[in-house]
Amino acid sequence: MLSRILLSAVANVAILTLVSYIFIKIIPKKRTYALTGWQKILLIFIASITSFILMSFSVDLPQQVKIDMRYNAMILLLYYIGPATFIPAALITAFLRLSWGISDAAVYTFILYIILSVLMPLLNKWISKRFNSYTVGLTLNFCYVLGHGVVLYFVYHDWNYVIATSFFNFLFSSCCLLLNIMFIEDMRINVRLYLDEIERAKSDYLTGLYNKREFSYYWTEIENDSTITHTALLMLDIDHFKCINDQYGHLNGDIILRQVASLLHVEDIEHEQIYRVGGEEFCIVLKNKSFSQQMAIAEKIRQTVENNPFKLENHQTIHLTVSVGMATSYKVKDMKNLYRLADRALYQAKERGRNQLVVLDLAERELKRIL
Ligand code: GH3
Ligand code: MG
Ligand code: MG
Repeated sequence: MLSRILLSAVANVAILTLVSYIFIKIIPKKRTYALTGWQKILLIFIASITSFILMSFSVDLPQQVKIDMRYNAMILLLYYIGPATFIPAALITAFLRLSWGISDAAVYTFILYIILSVLMPLLNKWISKRFNSYTVGLTLNFCYVLGHGVVLYFVYHDWNYVIATSFFNFLFSSCCLLLNIMFIEDMRINVRLYLDEIERAKSDYLTGLYNKREFSYYWTEIENDSTITHTALLMLDIDHFKCINDQYGHLNGDIILRQVASLLHVEDIEHEQIYRVGGEEFCIVLKNKSFSQQMAIAEKIRQTVENNPFKLENHQTIHLTVSVGMATSYKVKDMKNLYRLADRALYQAKERGRNQLVVLDLAERELKRIL
């Protein structure tokens, strides 16, 4: 008897652990993600089939007490994936229960599942903001066992039986659920660490901007993106930065680099468009902007830096300037050549006396002196 109980309990844990693993594997490894329609359908299918299968692995206790963990997969689905997948899966499970054989118990359980498909998401929404995953899991499970207890009463009209079954049901299914939550949490921590490491590898630790390696990946992304028809590449270099380091020290140099980096987020330029490509050199990629918009942005950055009072460690303020080389391309998306051209434009801006913008067009390769 004891070995049969243990075997059924282990089977339930094994099935649910496998399903938890699949749930987490299906979720894209991104900080903010949206599931595709197919991923949602797959999750709904897996959760409802799991509930159905778990009915066959019920744990048989003495005195006809029969318990199963069929709603555990649903609770995990609701908490970790969300109501958009839970509600259809709960409804499918309700119908699958009827296919198990129509009886009073089946009809009552069907009604219970329909009610739970509405109540559980509301309860989850309310408690998941306030409590940790274990408390939420236990509360949702308690709600299910309570509902299940009511159904048992309607079927057997025997309070002793209802209380004994609900007690063991809650005990077994909660242990099983907590084990799975532990497992999922552990996997989620690993995913988070993995994402943090990726972010660290992409970023420049001093300014928080993306680094040169990420910039080279971004090139390929832009070249392969058919929605981007024309691009401009801005290359900025702080003027006489060595003198600032020499005069105020490298620590102040670092403080200034951070302030310059934050000034580059002008207009609607997103973080993924700005890169620190060298010591005091930055690159910005502009996508699908008209020539006048590109010019306005480049000039705005130059002027913003020129007019900005930079604060040093001792609260003294200094002023500095940047030279900007801009390469534009309205036809060809050849980022390597654009980079080469922006570099040349920057060199010309320096040669002409610094604190200015020089624009070169990739198609014309014609030098235009601006300002
Ligand atoms: P130019 O106007 O021609 O650009 O003159 P510059 O002095 O800015 O150019 P140069 O290339 O001679 O000097 C760049 C300086 O940037 C040299 C280096 O010490 C400094 N630098 C590079 N990386 C860092 C950094 O991370 N922190 C600090 N504080 N300084 C850096
Ligand atoms: Mg410089
Ligand atoms: Mg430089």
